[in-house]
Amino acid sequence: MTATLVTGGAGFIGANFVLHLRRAYPDLRVVVLDAMTYAAQPASLAPLDGDPLFRLVRGDIRDQALVASLLEQEAVRRIVHFAAESHVDRSISGPDPFIETNIVGTHTLLKAARDAWQGHDPSTCRFHHISTDEVYGSLGPDDPAFTELSPYAPNSTYSASKAASDHLVRAYFKTHGLPVTTSNCSNNYGPLQFPEKLIPLAITNLLGGKPVPVYGDGRNVRDWLHVEDHCRGIDAVLTRGRVGETYNIGGNSELANIDLVESLCATVDRLFASDPAYAERYPDAAPAAGGRCAELITFVTDRPGHDRRYAIDASKARDELDFSPRHAFGQGLADTVRWYLDRPDWWRPILDGSYRAD
Ligand code: NAD
Repeated sequence: MTATLVTGGAGFIGANFVLHLRRAYPDLRVVVLDAMTYAAQPASLAPLDGDPLFRLVRGDIRDQALVASLLEQEAVRRIVHFAAESHVDRSISGPDPFIETNIVGTHTLLKAARDAWQGHDPSTCRFHHISTDEVYGSLGPDDPAFTELSPYAPNSTYSASKAASDHLVRAYFKTHGLPVTTSNCSNNYGPLQFPEKLIPLAITNLLGGKPVPVYGDGRNVRDWLHVEDHCRGIDAVLTRGRVGETYNIGGNSELANIDLVESLCATVDRLFASDPAYAERYPDAAPAAGGRCAELITFVTDRPGHDRRYAIDASKARDELDFSPRHAFGQGLADTVRWYLDRPDWWRPILDGSYRAD
């Protein structure tokens, strides 16, 4: 039996994708390779405990011997590569792991795939690389959205390291004929996201009655993509995408950060008003004492090199792959807020560090 290897499958998008694969393809064997950094949440994969077609391997994508033996042992014919250092703020304070994992790690995987798939029919193999719209740099307010042909202009160590990995993936296609595809997506949101990223950070801070920091003037614009739509988009590239091609995946939901945070505040207020159990569960939240969440919004000094606007033109994925996002942003955001309100068992151990105790 062959297997699909998902790197970084214990992180936010990777875990959602592994759960998607096991639901959508009941006969597919899925192997996760994850170094279990701070960003990994074993609890996200708990629904697969005891699943005979699932295996979690704790290991580093830079470990060439481990990767090579895994590809052979599990007869891996498909690699879906999520593993990365992914938080821009961390790339400013500590850039080295970004170079190591995102560039060196991706190169280690590419070499291993090239060697393992020699002699196999390339149409039965695939290396799919997950990248970001941040590689294209920053847009002005009236600029057209990024297409797959937009020039690369990364501005942070994170986006520069992802850009480098995209180039390596392309080079292995052009030079070695490795059957690759790449997708560049916008900001993801949804269940299982580590609470240092904007949406889960804002929600969990609001529930604890803590300030919600907003960078600069709050007018930085992002496109928001529900993680379930992203998983469907990756699936579409894997099944219908052309080898050697790049596809942009977006959510058709551009929003300024301050508008996003205000919308989150209003949603939390509304959910507290609809169910008194939330005030009992989160007594420190502003609406539990008759206040409003928006009182906790706090503007902080802007991030250096902060890109002003990203926007994705996803017409290639729509026209070639028949893929469009299904989640309307307002409903997707409300569902996400409710998920965090209902799942403190998932995020509280991360905030108090107790999940690392076992
Ligand atoms: P995440 O930080 O939640 O998860 C990353 C996972 O990779 C973690 O489980 C971590 O343990 C693992 N990992 C890190 N270094 C590793 C190594 N050396 N070897 C093996 N595993 C390692 O990230 P995410 O938000 O799920 O993002 C997944 C991918 O999607 C990344 O490549 C990221 O660049 C890309 N992306 C994310 C977003 C977003 O909004 N989150 C947007 C665009 C692109």
